Amino acid sequence: MAWPTMRVLRALSSGWDDVSQRSLIAGGDWQNLPMLDALSHPAIRACQDFDANPSLSKYERHKEATAVAGYPVTEARDMRIGPGWRAAIIVKDGVSWIVHVETHDRFHATVASRFASQNLAYTEPTADDMQLRHLKMLEAKIVGMTKSWQEEVIRRSLAAFRDAFVNHRDGQEVVAQLPSPPAEMLQPGAENVDLELAVSVVYESVNVQDGADAGTSALAEVSIRFESWKMLSARLGNSSSADGIVTLLLTTILPVLDNREETWTTEPAAHYGLDGSLTFDIEMSRMRALQLLFAAEHVGATGPSLGQAIRADVHHFVTQDDLKAAIADQEPLRAACGYWFVPARFPDSFPLCDECARQERVIRFLEQVTIGEK
Ligand SMILES: [Zn+2]
Repeated sequence: MAWPTMRVLRALSSGWDDVSQRSLIAGGDWQNLPMLDALSHPAIRACQDFDANPSLSKYERHKEATAVAGYPVTEARDMRIGPGWRAAIIVKDGVSWIVHVETHDRFHATVASRFASQNLAYTEPTADDMQLRHLKMLEAKIVGMTKSWQEEVIRRSLAAFRDAFVNHRDGQEVVAQLPSPPAEMLQPGAENVDLELAVSVVYESVNVQDGADAGTSALAEVSIRFESWKMLSARLGNSSSADGIVTLLLTTILPVLDNREETWTTEPAAHYGLDGSLTFDIEMSRMRALQLLFAAEHVGATGPSLGQAIRADVHHFVTQDDLKAAIADQEPLRAACGYWFVPARFPDSFPLCDECARQERVIRFLEQVTIGEK
């Protein structure tokens, strides 16, 4: 990928698809700016496959600028209809840099002079540019590792939940070892923090009056305990990194088990034990339990989207991969029926989505599942 210099970014005052990025640059907020390859300016986008495909027809050696610079200068053409952006790319120490961007006429009128000796220091990437690139790449690496970690936490949590529901409905604990957070998230010397999740499920007999679960009598008391809480804090000290990991862990696991926030953010649903462990008690309807079992047993992501779900008052089934994408990437959730939906605070009395219920794998799942039946 080709990286724009900070000077190029500051000079780009128009043409942004996402104007909030322009505001961040104008305000010097480099920290909150997304990865440089995620910038929304057409001229920058046009350069992003330069390293991979430098022989594409949109890339052409700019003869005049090359002659003045004494090294190759490539002109990149934005092929979209519009103002016709042009960018100049140079390669320095193996890194491709976007060092000059203008609309077509202005580009050709100015590009050669940018490489004249008196302007060269102003045009070429500076130490600050290299530092920013380094930080953004590190950031992207950490984001990627965090995402993988979250996905693995979700996978193991669902497996533990399924084991508890299917094999140990008597309340016996199922203990799952969760992966250590990426070392980059931890302080030096605090690598490989063991995290343990204990899930136990107890059925209660309740008489449900209304809704889809009316007449059925399954209600699960689900308890989640993080054993290694105390140790995690002790090993990471009173630093914000422990809090960050705790928050990330909670926001990874809890939405999987219960998306009704109010049930786990208010006392006494969550409580700390004297040993430093943290326990959540979640009351879960049969429908919620079925949703989790379905996600535990169905991995592959759902096919092409059918758009936004029409009804908001139904329960959809979701696969594990779609759940991971929603939590780790903060995307909307794709249901097994193919519709996007927002999983917000479903009353347990909502019925199952008709479209989901027509899916082959949902039909098979419901035929075979025995959860909550007497
Ligand atoms: Zn559905």
